[in-house]
Amino acid sequence: MALEHHDYDVLVLGSGGSGLRAAIAAAEAGARTGLVCKSLLGKAHTVMAEGGLAASLGNVAPEDSWSTHFQDTMFGGKYLNNWRMAELHAKEAPDRARELEHWGAVFDRTPERVMSQRAFGGHTYKRLVHIGDRTGLEMIRTLQDKTVHSNVEVFMETTITRLLKDGDRVVGAFGYRRATGELISFSAKALVIATGGSGRIYRITSNSQDCTGDGYALGYEAGAELVDMEFVQFHPTGMVYPPGVAGLLVTEAVRGEGGILRNNLGERFMEKYDPKRMELSTRDVVARSIYTEVKEGRGTPHGGAFLDVSHLDSDYVRRKLPSMYDQFMELAGVDITKEPMQVGPTCHYFMGGVKVDPDNGQSRVPGLFATGEASGGMNGANRLGGNSLGDLLVFGRRAGEGAAQVANAIDSVSLPDEEVAAAQAEIDGFLNGSGTEDPFKMHRELQTIMGDGVGIFRDRAGISEAISKLESLEARVGNLKAPSNRPDYNPGWQLCREVKNMLTVSLMIARGALMREESRGAHSRLDHTGYSDYWGEHNIVVHRDGDHDMTLTPTPVVKRDELEDLVEARKEAEKAS
Ligand SMILES: Cc1cc2nc3c(=O)[nH]c(=O)nc-3n(C[C@H](O)[C@H](O)[C@H](O)COP(=O)(O)OP(=O)(O)OC[C@H]3O[C@@H](n4cnc5c(N)ncnc54)[C@H](O)[C@@H]3O)c2cc1C
Repeated sequence: MALEHHDYDVLVLGSGGSGLRAAIAAAEAGARTGLVCKSLLGKAHTVMAEGGLAASLGNVAPEDSWSTHFQDTMFGGKYLNNWRMAELHAKEAPDRARELEHWGAVFDRTPERVMSQRAFGGHTYKRLVHIGDRTGLEMIRTLQDKTVHSNVEVFMETTITRLLKDGDRVVGAFGYRRATGELISFSAKALVIATGGSGRIYRITSNSQDCTGDGYALGYEAGAELVDMEFVQFHPTGMVYPPGVAGLLVTEAVRGEGGILRNNLGERFMEKYDPKRMELSTRDVVARSIYTEVKEGRGTPHGGAFLDVSHLDSDYVRRKLPSMYDQFMELAGVDITKEPMQVGPTCHYFMGGVKVDPDNGQSRVPGLFATGEASGGMNGANRLGGNSLGDLLVFGRRAGEGAAQVANAIDSVSLPDEEVAAAQAEIDGFLNGSGTEDPFKMHRELQTIMGDGVGIFRDRAGISEAISKLESLEARVGNLKAPSNRPDYNPGWQLCREVKNMLTVSLMIARGALMREESRGAHSRLDHTGYSDYWGEHNIVVHRDGDHDMTLTPTPVVKRDELEDLVEARKEAEKAS
């Protein structure tokens, strides 16, 4: 089959908030820019974001500042964050929010006609810029509009299955068009991974179908380091029924607007777990609290907790939480202005990702950049709500500019024939090979292994069992074959490579979870329940050693002297409270 080919200075993988912002920045810096996405433009996972974008604009709380936002982010991440990333994010998020408004985004406003800001868990002040509970939609609409007017060429419904290298350098990518099965290659002087997270490794997840960890695996295979992969955020409030929608997110804005959590005895149980912050405690704490209430027999009929906003004015609820109102009314027949929702933890976000230079998004592999949820470091052991949308804009822009700068300094790159041939052989094998493993069945097996052994609570025995089961899947993954060999719109074909990616990601998470012998942020070990001094100073960095060996290395947290006082002040304040 003839191979379609395109050449760019900068190629961006992913059209979520981070990919769009990177593409805009690269194009503005003069780079010929291409953008590839698995789904339709405008349908990336970011569109689902609900509650808001954290930025210390001080519109509602004038006393807010970048330094308080930085401290909150560090506290939320249990001090494992890359300090420079947390600093840049806190300092630049306000400008990126204003810029979005300048480009046409319409956010809710205060009576003074400035962007309104709402409360969210772990944020000291009302800080989240939002439009009702549809913030991601507005963000994607605005960025998409800007992108199509920025001379960026878009390849929709195109799946990248491999990064292509020339020696040590990434020089392009290989994939296929989902609608026709036609193969496609790209050469690029610099490539930005913006492929989002990997929620689909768990059965109960808020994540969209696209979230199969492709960028983590592609980056790993190309030689990049990944950091903090053991930290997987389980959002405390997903729908628990009907079964077909279990895991669907119930935005934190519900609690931000005054929602109250109760168990089946009517107790407001957060009083026991975090009496200071109550429902607005950080996500890791609220998720574990709900899980514990259910496990100890105080759950709702459908195995969750009650989340109630019926004490609030019903018009206010419908104005501030319109999607939640519709979601519960249409999917569960529940009118949230009159009766409580039933909610429970759902896999939501990956704190880990490709390790990058905070200032320009560059990985350790020449020519390879990463941004958004695909990159790691900003959030440490736990992300605060609202900090992802700001992250996408701040670091998307920086990665796009960084990639353009590298690309503009290079004359040209070319794709080695053997790299293209190997990529082609791999996906041809999934379609026409003699394999006998069904990708749908293997995906379900993987989800069960991860849910059972590497879920919200973990211990050595469970994680070790999960690792050995994942290793036995690894031995079978080369035998995957799509149930049908039609090349057009063949989800089984796509899933073969995705399962391989998810398996790589799952092994990184499980091995990191085994190594980290403590409980911190989103990582809870039943056999190591407290903090460890050693692990409080170390991230776990993963890379591929040679062709196959996954190597995990404890690496000191990247600090900055000039921020030491802020961090110490926050630690002292927490001790005193
Ligand atoms: C329901 C929900 C609500 C949320 N609400 C908030 C919120 O209020 N505030 C907040 O800060 N965060 C929120 N989050 C988190 C936030 O939305 C995500 O972390 C963020 O949108 C991720 O953006 P991204 O650009 O990194 O990737 P994504 O938006 O996930 O985009 C990834 C892109 O990569 C493409 N892609 C993936 N693999 C490939 C491949 N192999 N080839 C080609 N393309 C590929 C996809 O098609 C997609 O275009 C929420 C998440 C969910 C699920």
